[in-house]
Amino acid sequence: MLVTSKEMFEKAVAGHFAVPSANFVDEDSLKAHLAVSEELNLPIIIAIAEAHLNAFITLEDAAYYAKYLAEKTTNPVCLHLDHGSSFEVCKKAIDLGFTSVMIDGSMKPFEENVALTKSVVEYAHEKGVVVEAEIGHVASNFDKSDPNAIYTSVEEAKAFAEQTQCDSLAVSIGTAHGFYKGTPVINFERLHELKEAVPCPLVLHGGSGSGDDNLNRCATEGIAKVNVYSDFMASAARPVLALENKEAEVDDYYTIKNASIDGMKDCLKYCYKLFETKSI
Ligand SMILES: [Zn+2]
Repeated sequence: MLVTSKEMFEKAVAGHFAVPSANFVDEDSLKAHLAVSEELNLPIIIAIAEAHLNAFITLEDAAYYAKYLAEKTTNPVCLHLDHGSSFEVCKKAIDLGFTSVMIDGSMKPFEENVALTKSVVEYAHEKGVVVEAEIGHVASNFDKSDPNAIYTSVEEAKAFAEQTQCDSLAVSIGTAHGFYKGTPVINFERLHELKEAVPCPLVLHGGSGSGDDNLNRCATEGIAKVNVYSDFMASAARPVLALENKEAEVDDYYTIKNASIDGMKDCLKYCYKLFETKSI
């Protein structure tokens, strides 16, 4: 059934697990999410990022198709816009029936991020939609900056959540967008401090390549959702590349498509295990 992430995050925090969110980009990746979550009877967040719109699917197509499929499931499914950059795109997603949106003002100064997030929260809450915000920019692998400088400040995160009334908050504790290059240094002490101080559930971006032990600890020590887009996409491509060059295999669209769908499903199953996700 189509729901917001409110209850799944409350249960995740109380039950020390996280819900995976890998981002869908097309029909196959959307269906892979729904098939695995239905099979295992686990909650799922089906998210599409603004940056990935129109590669294979528009926001409108994504909304109609995802809603239609999510309504047919028995397990809880949240339809989420990932990394919305403006009030307008968040409003559009909300009006189309998304149950959750992320407004990413993390690159803006604190006050501007607060104002932008507040405007989205106000509109979303009127419609029963939840809002994820971000503070403390999650680095990309192109950043060469000192990770200590980009860890989310506890005081700022607390003030931000209180002022904006956001429903969940993406924090920076050492992961990076894309595949992590080098040894990931996750600041668990900061995670514990943030969990203690911030009044809403915390979520983690840039989970891909951050190490199984790190991700399991994040999921069981206070993070309610982990984004793993890059790992998921690699899992879709890897089995296709591994197909042997036999006529009946690689020349066959069905074989290629099924190999990538199976790869995506395997990745999600792995994430569910790693994040210790439980039925709700
Ligand atoms: Zn992200």
